[in-house]
Amino acid sequence: MLLKSNLDEAQTGKRISAKGYAVANKDDTFKPFSFTRHALGENDILIEILYAGICHSDIHSARSEWHEGIYPMVPGHEIAGKVVAVGSKVSKFQVGDYAGVGCMVNSCGECAACKASNEQFCENGKMVLTYDCKDCFHNDEPTFGGYSNNIVVSEKFAIKVPKDAPLDKVAPLLCAGITTYSPLKFSKIKKGDKVGVAGFGGLGVMALKYAIKMGAEVSVFARNENKKQEALRLGAKALYTTDKLDSIKERFDFIISTIPTRYDPMSYINLLKNGGEMAIVGLPPSGESIETDMTRLVFQANKKVYGSLIGGIKETQEMLDFSLEHRIYPETEIIRADEINMAYENLTNGKAKFRYVIDMGSLES
Ligand SMILES: [Zn+2]
Ligand SMILES: [Zn+2]
Repeated sequence: MLLKSNLDEAQTGKRISAKGYAVANKDDTFKPFSFTRHALGENDILIEILYAGICHSDIHSARSEWHEGIYPMVPGHEIAGKVVAVGSKVSKFQVGDYAGVGCMVNSCGECAACKASNEQFCENGKMVLTYDCKDCFHNDEPTFGGYSNNIVVSEKFAIKVPKDAPLDKVAPLLCAGITTYSPLKFSKIKKGDKVGVAGFGGLGVMALKYAIKMGAEVSVFARNENKKQEALRLGAKALYTTDKLDSIKERFDFIISTIPTRYDPMSYINLLKNGGEMAIVGLPPSGESIETDMTRLVFQANKKVYGSLIGGIKETQEMLDFSLEHRIYPETEIIRADEINMAYENLTNGKAKFRYVIDMGSLES
């Protein structure tokens, strides 16, 4: 629940009190944590967070698996909630509107990438991540994410959410949705394309749903058959376990890899047709990538492999509108804030069936 004092703080230009769940170091478990956020600027909105999704990136960050994290750390970049205060120059939102926040909360706004709404590639290095990042627009103070009761964000980086949208489903779209939607659009997936989805967690499920909506015939590649029925129920044509990949070489127009652990990209590049494309969106821990054999790559037939990082704000809004129009939602399981540690365990062990979404109403006041 939002603290009563937050509205006073917003109106009087004071720092905004917040509470959530944080880890104090990379080996810690989540515990309740009180902190403050920067004051409401004239272009900022204050959002009462109602739901926050748990992304695999949160786990890598909390455990310093990519780089040394900034602690205490409040992860969470799949945020949906209600606008409770707006700065004097805000025009996109009114109090009472619903809003979402994804992986970024600011950028320079002036470089070519920002002007093209590819803020995630800000050429001045000023893209500010939602958590575990120094905020260069606010004296380099650390950013805190969505496992909390509120967030203050520039209106430019908030996504408009219609009032009748299911907020618990909207939250994960802001990372898992855009991360998979963006490369499918970039590679212009169309009716009849043969698409492969490698890795079938939160991202893989979204990739499958979007690709089917775009008219593609979709196969899923997974470590085992645990999720086969689920994949078929959601419209996949087939699920191939990773030991069977040699039998389906050169069949696919496009493959999206959402795998967040160590694997050999060549085993998937082999599955592309001549001229096929592969987008990599999954991020294994640093030091766990496999070196690509250049000779094997040269003998591939004009295939393109590229990395894709979330999507810009304009495309994120487009993704959300597309998802709501076609009712494409993540498969979610709502948990309480005091169940975050359990969720991390299950995600790490591969036991999580769906995207965990924290009901922030469960934070004790
Ligand atoms: Zn994420
Ligand atoms: Zn920029």
